[in-house]
Amino acid sequence: MHIEEKRSSYQVNIVPRQWYNFIYDHPTLINVGEIHNNYKTKKVNIAPKQPLSLMKQSFDTETPFIDIPNDLWLKYLTFRPTPLKRALNLENLLSVNAQIYYKYEGANVSGSHKLNTALAQVYYYKLAGAKHIITGTGAGQWGTAIAYACKLFGLKCTVFMVNISLSQKPQRKAMMELMGATVISSPSGYTKVGKNALNKNNKLGSLAIATAEAIEMSNQEKYTQFAVGSGENSVLLHQTIIGQEALNQLQKLDVFPDQVIACMGAGSNFAGIGLPLRMHANKFGKNCQLIAAEPVACPKLTRGKYTYEINDFSGTTPISKMYTLGQKFVAPAIHAGGLRYHGTSEFLSAMFHHKMFEASAIKQKEALQAGLLFMETEGILPAPESAHALAVAIQNAKKHPISDKPLNILVNISGHGLFDLAAYDQFQKNILDDDMPSEEMIKISLAELT
Ligand SMILES: *Cc1c(COP(=O)(O)O)cnc(C)c1O
Repeated sequence: MHIEEKRSSYQVNIVPRQWYNFIYDHPTLINVGEIHNNYKTKKVNIAPKQPLSLMKQSFDTETPFIDIPNDLWLKYLTFRPTPLKRALNLENLLSVNAQIYYKYEGANVSGSHKLNTALAQVYYYKLAGAKHIITGTGAGQWGTAIAYACKLFGLKCTVFMVNISLSQKPQRKAMMELMGATVISSPSGYTKVGKNALNKNNKLGSLAIATAEAIEMSNQEKYTQFAVGSGENSVLLHQTIIGQEALNQLQKLDVFPDQVIACMGAGSNFAGIGLPLRMHANKFGKNCQLIAAEPVACPKLTRGKYTYEINDFSGTTPISKMYTLGQKFVAPAIHAGGLRYHGTSEFLSAMFHHKMFEASAIKQKEALQAGLLFMETEGILPAPESAHALAVAIQNAKKHPISDKPLNILVNISGHGLFDLAAYDQFQKNILDDDMPSEEMIKISLAELT
């Protein structure tokens, strides 16, 4: 019997065969069109080497649902479906008039939702002839996901990891190495970008430098590709497997959420769970409000500006219109590293501009408190990023009047927090600050934007 046929029918029926192509329903949101005259491009971007299959996914206005190739789908079966459960203990403890459901994307070996796109990208890169993937990672979630995806598909993997994060999270490096990847501390002596940074005495590094090092090295080698963890439409598309799967699971439970809440870094887990749910609500005339949770330390949606900005997710698109705090904005060193990026995806920015979803900013202490509460009640220690979404869910559940019909909430837990114990430890010992950028800092950074 083929291994495929041995899978349970539950697994086979629940794990989606297609991604939801949100661009098909909103073609105008990707046609930002006009080029901003005043924009001064300071950075020369490197020509894209992305395979056509992936590029097409970022701009496909013709296909409502995109088939997940079977070989990729089989890899998804190693950890999907991910749990969708009701947080009854949490509801009881809070005594709220709300039903809180959660989808848990942390139950795979890489620890976050990023594996959904890492597998898809490595699949397409391999198909296009790549033998080696190079990437940059900050806190290490993306690096771990791509390292594991390369392991499963038999490709070589090199990860430039931000030096300061590497010294804070040596376990992440160990994990990537277990998966067969080579991990290089960035800034490194291997690239011009890295040497430049070192010459300027920048030893701590940044995600922008690590990414630039990865791009530089990938351009020098044949059969070598650079991969990016979030922001691009194709990445958002791959993450819609979360929402598509949640729809299948909710149908079995016969419930539909009034609110879908997810944390917002560059937007992939938010789009992944939110856009399929929104599509379903529109189709069947239901109400479903999407809410993005961002940290007060990096409030690009609630306090940023919608304007043209260098998009250094990948270095392949020189400028895009997005909500941003400015490329020079350096968010305070909060523990939710995945939410510290100064901008957000072009597509989601356009949606937000058209008031198609809401955003709420959360203090890191409130987030970590919500995370600990979730561990005590539901047995999962969420990533500090995901804990921001939980904090919004708890706020909204508490606000909902007892006299109304119960509020149905679906919250995405994008990853586990087992490598973030230092954050929780500091919170519990009460030695953690609620780091907020000053008004002045935001003003200066926004003033640089035209
Ligand atoms: C990277 C990351 C995020 C933020 O990225 P998005 O693209 O906005 O989803 C959120 N949660 C976790 C656990 C992450 O690793």
